Amino acid sequence: MSALGGFLPFNKWSQESNAQPPKGNKPVVVSTWNFGKEANKAAWNILSGNGSALDAVEAGARVPEGNPDIRTVGYGGRPDRDGFVTLDACIMDQNDQCGSVAALQHIKHPISVARKVKEESPHVMLVADGALDFAVSQGFEKEDLLTEESRKDWEAWKEDADYSPEINIENHDTIGMVAIDSKGNLSGACTTSGMAWKMHGRVGDSPLIGSGLFVDNDVGAAAATGLGEEIIRVNGSHLVVENMRRGDSPEMACKHAVERIVSKNDSVDGIQVGFIAVNKEGAYGGYSIQEGFSFAVRNSKEDKLVDAPHLN
Ligand code: ASP
Repeated sequence: MSALGGFLPFNKWSQESNAQPPKGNKPVVVSTWNFGKEANKAAWNILSGNGSALDAVEAGARVPEGNPDIRTVGYGGRPDRDGFVTLDACIMDQNDQCGSVAALQHIKHPISVARKVKEESPHVMLVADGALDFAVSQGFEKEDLLTEESRKDWEAWKEDADYSPEINIENHDTIGMVAIDSKGNLSGACTTSGMAWKMHGRVGDSPLIGSGLFVDNDVGAAAATGLGEEIIRVNGSHLVVENMRRGDSPEMACKHAVERIVSKNDSVDGIQVGFIAVNKEGAYGGYSIQEGFSFAVRNSKEDKLVDAPHLN
């Protein structure tokens, strides 16, 4: 046991466990799911030109937000059970500054509104109509985000859904993105349309600093995807970063957070949660409850999709 009662000093690796700092390669960007690969391309354009991690994650997150074929993020995202497309997003930088919007309608790029909240308001989080008013005041255009495909899906769902939100592993997928730049600064972004057919007003983990995303420039950054209610209950991304602070590699930090969620449930059948993380050295990792979670990595040597290791 260390003099700090088991807690390691900031950014120091455990001497007791003989853990070696995992080797990393900076800059690097890591994003959730297969669509993360396309998003990483936009982020890498910035990182490879010595741009900031903050600019990189915003640019990357805007890619799936603007793509109507991605039905779980931004424009084209599936609506709630009343037919409203409501978006959640947050962003956090190397100075612990963060911005967030939740239940935002009519704005295609909530990640950029979240950044404006961080930089142009005295607050961290704005929701619903207040977030929309703020976005419009900042020059964002009001648009209809419900595409024909998503409207048809909703009509079909209503036919036999009994108006009940469904919790399963298919009807959601957020982009969470974490990056470290050539100066060694970390930032992250997270954006989603949330769980399809959710109750109107439901907010998941994705816009909540500490749940969907957390960054500590001394240690690392983490982001989450999956069933938001479970991620919120353990403050998942903060937990991953704290695990890294205590000496875990990014992958082990994600695994331990997954195990925490599993330990809180009698059964995790049908529940998916995945985490990604990057540390101060540029090492990365991810982990999920169930098989099927993938994450995308881009650095000077790699541009790849990784099937995340999983518990079940
Ligand atoms: N975490 C998101 C939410 O609960 C959805 C997802 O990432 O799959 O809204």
